[in-house]
Amino acid sequence: MEVTQQQVEKIVTAVLAQMGRTTAGQSTAAGSGKNWDSVQYHGRKLIGIFDDMNDAIAAAKKGYLAVRSMSVEQREVLITKIRQMIREEAQILAELGVAETGMGRVEHKKAKHILVADKTPGTEDIISYAKTGDNGLTLVEMAPFGVVGAITPSTNPSETVLCNSIGMIAAGNGVVFNPHPGAIATSNYAVDLVNRACQACGGPEILVASMVKPTMESASVMESHPDIRLLVCTGGPGVVKAVLSSGKKAIGAGAGNPPVIVDDTADIQKAGKDIIDGCTFDNNLPCIAEKEVFAFRNIADELIRVMIKAGSYKITKAQADELAKIVLVEVTDKKTGKTKKQINRKCVGRDAAVLLKMIGINVGPEIRCIIAETDFDHPFVQTELMMPILPIVRVDTIEEAIDLAVKAEHGCRHSAHMHSKNIDHLTRFAQAVETTIFVKNAPSYAGIGFGGEGHTTFTIAGPTGEGITSARSYTRQRRCVMADSFRII
Ligand code: NAD
Repeated sequence: MEVTQQQVEKIVTAVLAQMGRTTAGQSTAAGSGKNWDSVQYHGRKLIGIFDDMNDAIAAAKKGYLAVRSMSVEQREVLITKIRQMIREEAQILAELGVAETGMGRVEHKKAKHILVADKTPGTEDIISYAKTGDNGLTLVEMAPFGVVGAITPSTNPSETVLCNSIGMIAAGNGVVFNPHPGAIATSNYAVDLVNRACQACGGPEILVASMVKPTMESASVMESHPDIRLLVCTGGPGVVKAVLSSGKKAIGAGAGNPPVIVDDTADIQKAGKDIIDGCTFDNNLPCIAEKEVFAFRNIADELIRVMIKAGSYKITKAQADELAKIVLVEVTDKKTGKTKKQINRKCVGRDAAVLLKMIGINVGPEIRCIIAETDFDHPFVQTELMMPILPIVRVDTIEEAIDLAVKAEHGCRHSAHMHSKNIDHLTRFAQAVETTIFVKNAPSYAGIGFGGEGHTTFTIAGPTGEGITSARSYTRQRRCVMADSFRII
C-alpha cells in the first residue's frame, strides 16, 4: 500500500501532538514558555539583527574594520569572553534549539555548545612564517578576508554560528550570517551572544550580523555583494552547490552518509555501545554520526544483542518498510514534474520513541535507537536520514564490507568509522573511503574532538578541502619580501 504525503502528514501530526509537540517543531516538553522570536528574547532586543541583507553586510563591515584595528591580544580577550558566555548560556541555547526546531536532545545540544567553547581554536591557530636565504627574508602572514558571508544549518544552528564566529573573528574577519529559516531565533540568539560579549569587552556594538527573516533571496544578495570576500556554507548539497557556483571564494561543508564497518576482530561489546552512542548523539543530527552498519556475518547477532542492551529497539523488515514510507516522502519537482524520494523534515532529529509510535509501537524513553536488518539497497542505508534509525547489513568479507560502505558513502568524502583490531582492515578501509574524518574504535563524535584528540568544528569542509575548519581556514596568505637584508647570520 502506498502512503500519500497527506497521510504521512496526518500520522506525523497525530503522533507529535500525542508526544506534546507541534508540527511547527515546537516542543512543549523542552524549553516550554520560551519565545522564539527572531528579533527579541524575552522582551530583550537581540543585537545585530537586520531586515535587509545590505544593512547587515554594512554592519558586519563596520565590525570587520573594528576587529582589524584590535590587537591580537584584544581579539583573544573577546574570544575568551565568547567562550565564557557560551558556557554560561549553553542550557538556554540547547533548549531554544530543541524548542524552535523540534529536533535533537537538550542534554546533547548543551554538550555540543560546551565543546564549541572549549575546543574551537582561537588566535593561536593563526601562524605566520618566515623564509630566509641568500636573497634576504620573506614573511608570510595569514590575513583576514574582510567580511565573511556564512550560511548555517538547522541541525546545529547556534553551534555553527558560535564556532564560525570564534574562528572567523580570531582570523580578523567580520561576519554576516544567513541562518536556516527553521532555526532563526536560535541562530540569532547566538549572534546576539557574540555581540554582547564584544560590548562587554569594550568592542563595537555589532561584530557579527544576521537577518530577521533569512531567505534564499537574502542568501543570493549575500553571495553577489561586492563586500563579501569569502562564503562559508554549512548545509546540504543544494546550498553547497549554490555557493560554489557564486564565482567567489567559497568553503563548502556538505552532506555525508557515514558508514561504519564492524569486523570479527572488533571488541563487540565496545563496538555495539560506541555505535549506538554515536548514532543517537543529538538524535543523529550531526553530519558525522553513524548512519549505516556493515557487520561481519559471524559477529552480527552478538553485535545486535549488545545494541539492544545499549537502548535499541529492533524492528522487522516489514516494520522497516512501513517506517520508510513515513520518514521518506515522494515529492514532485515543480519545474521538471519528476518525482523523487526525500526525507520527511518532520521526522528529522526526532526521538526514537516518536518515530516508533508512527508505526504503532509504544516504547519508553530508555529506547534511544531503532535498528533494523536490511539489504544494501534499502532507503535507510542509501539516505542520510538524520534520525536515530540504524540499518545493519550483514557482510561476509572485508572486501565486500569496504565495497558496500564506500558505495553507501556516495562519494561525499565526509566521515566513515570502523571497529576492528586488524590494522590491515582499518588501513584498507581508510584508504578506500577517502573521507575527511575516519574514526577507529570509538563513537563518531570522537572525530570532532569529543572524547578524541584534536580541535572541534561544526563546519567540516570535505568538498572544498579545508577539512576540520579553524581560524586559519578563514584567512588568506600575504607575502612581504625584504630582498638582500634583514638576515642576522
Ligand atoms: P539545508 O541544506 O536544508 O540548509 C542549510 C542552509 O542553506 C540553510 O540556511 C538554508 O536556508 C540554506 N539554503 C538551502 N538551499 C540554498 C540555496 N540554494 N541558496 C542559498 N541558501 C540555501 O541544511 P539542514 O537540513 O539544515 O542541515 C542538514 C544538512 O547539512 C545535512 O545534509 C548535513 O549533512 C549537512 N551538514 C553538514 C555539515 C558539515 O560540517 N559538513 C555540518 C552540518 C550539517
